[in-house]
Amino acid sequence: MAQTAEPKKIQATGKMKGLMGQYFTELMGEEPSGNKMAWCTSVGPAELLRAMGFDVYFPENHGAMLGATRMATDLIPLANAHGFSPDICSYLTSDVGAYLKGESPFQKLGLPGPPKADVLVYNTNQCRDVKDWFQFYSRQWDVPCIGIETPRSIGEVDLTIVQAIAKKIKSLITPLEDVSGEKFDMDKLKDVVSLSKECTMLWKAVLETAAKAPSPLTFFDGTVQMGPAVVLRGTTGAVEYYKLLLAELEQRVADGVAAVEGESHRIYWEGMPIWGKLRDLSTQFMELQTAVVASTYCNSWIYEDLDPDHPFMGMARAYSELFICRSDDYKEKYMAKMIEKFSIDGVVYHDSKTCPNNSNNRYDLPKRLETKTGKPFVVINGDLNDLRLYSEEQSRTNIEAFVEQLAGA
Ligand code: SF4
Repeated sequence: MAQTAEPKKIQATGKMKGLMGQYFTELMGEEPSGNKMAWCTSVGPAELLRAMGFDVYFPENHGAMLGATRMATDLIPLANAHGFSPDICSYLTSDVGAYLKGESPFQKLGLPGPPKADVLVYNTNQCRDVKDWFQFYSRQWDVPCIGIETPRSIGEVDLTIVQAIAKKIKSLITPLEDVSGEKFDMDKLKDVVSLSKECTMLWKAVLETAAKAPSPLTFFDGTVQMGPAVVLRGTTGAVEYYKLLLAELEQRVADGVAAVEGESHRIYWEGMPIWGKLRDLSTQFMELQTAVVASTYCNSWIYEDLDPDHPFMGMARAYSELFICRSDDYKEKYMAKMIEKFSIDGVVYHDSKTCPNNSNNRYDLPKRLETKTGKPFVVINGDLNDLRLYSEEQSRTNIEAFVEQLAGA
């Protein structure tokens, strides 16, 4: 039976919006900090950049904003005309399209748009697209593009891999000193890693409140609440925010407050969000009394191996433990554990056309996992940003039929 479709407001969100607004204003506002500007991939060496005095900007966050505001679909063709294929990452193509057109959702916040980089720093642990994306801007602005090449399909993250990545992260110090004009300071790095670790452990605790039934938050809440964990890890602001959010969610658990009234089914979301359709999907699941309680995506900003006492080895291990750069055997085991921990009834796989890296339905994993866990699955075809690749009607029908199947199980 249909229930109220209004998402339950998380009170802390106002503070989060203020924190994110302050961060954007510091990066792009009228009073520049005087610091050099580093662009960083979402699981790039942000801790090192902050410790070396850079302002740090994450273009994937801009990509998600372009998707959520539905600006992306009109901007992607500009990047296609420039020479980027419609089949590659639509964060990349929408961001490049926005640059070519001079449009950005930041302008709605009274800000000029993404800040120009002095250096672009990537980690290919997630995909090669981020490097190609950064190299575009490196050529546009004639600034250095440096980074870390992480192996893909990693089984065990062994010492050989960790040492190699740690060495690579250290090798970034000299070129970064050349840009910033500041000397690397190990104590500062330890402080930033310590804050980053605190942030990440709080974020983990936030997500784990959803293991309780009824769940106090959903995946759709998580895609909003993750902002500081992505762009402000390594700062006190992010730590303070997640303490506040965690307290609110723990109170919800204590009071038995459900994010989805009458929660009857619990879903795991595998793959990228469909940014321009989050509200519609959230509403549909709510009407179906179905809570999407866990996802690989939101968990991608949990870095338990960060270690303030051994910052380089800790960063190397944390960045390489990432789900997206692991083998299918690892992914299968990880998801089986998540299904158990979050009492999952079924799995939704989003096959995101322009992100094969984060679409895990293509090599038989869903069937294997279903056999192993007994939990059914459904595949939704779409895209993170390009809504031309998403059929709303088909997805709604498939989701509805899937929930009916769960109800009959
Ligand atoms: S992981 Fe996917 S969405 Fe993220 S930057 Fe790479 S291709 Fe784009």
